[in-house]
Amino acid sequence: MLIEMHGRFAPHQAIEIARAVERFQPGWLEEPCRPDDLDALALVARHTPLPIATGERLYSANAYRDLFARRACHIIQPDINQCGGLLEVKKIAATAETHSMMVAPHNVGGIVSTTAALHLMAGLRNGFLLEHFNDFVDEDVKQVGAPYPEVVDGHFALPGGPGWGIELNEEYIAEHPPVTVDGVIQDPGLNMFVDGDWNRRGR
Ligand SMILES: [Mg+2]
Repeated sequence: MLIEMHGRFAPHQAIEIARAVERFQPGWLEEPCRPDDLDALALVARHTPLPIATGERLYSANAYRDLFARRACHIIQPDINQCGGLLEVKKIAATAETHSMMVAPHNVGGIVSTTAALHLMAGLRNGFLLEHFNDFVDEDVKQVGAPYPEVVDGHFALPGGPGWGIELNEEYIAEHPPVTVDGVIQDPGLNMFVDGDWNRRGR
């Protein structure tokens, strides 16, 4: 069990929650405080034995530098799509290793994002786990390429074949362009202000 706190709490509240859930031995507390308040995060980390995970809203190696210096977490969650790409995240992960921190890439993307993250994980000594929304993705996602990475008994197989090891179905992608409103691409899975079951990604 991993507890997502989504940066919603002041440190004293996060510490209170951590104490309340310690007996359930969750694998981590994720983003207990605002992602840009690293001192608050470090304060929580000092007051609970539970591992702290964070990083899906840190967007460069420089942002991670301060996190490392403060020892403000135990597990980092860089997102390859939002954090400068594969090589930047590799650099961040290698620095995390020198601080005895583990890596659990934030990954809510499709076949390319997940496959790239699997290649990254295969090359890390401090890789912990890979986030994945296999059971909640939009129906189209699994049609855009193959083989689609699937979790079997809690594990992914490493991608095989040349390159990334996947083939995109460009015809299907061209036939299913994203929905836009006023030029902004819509995320049908996260429309939390319309769908009552948004937390199930609309399925
Ligand atoms: Mg998260």
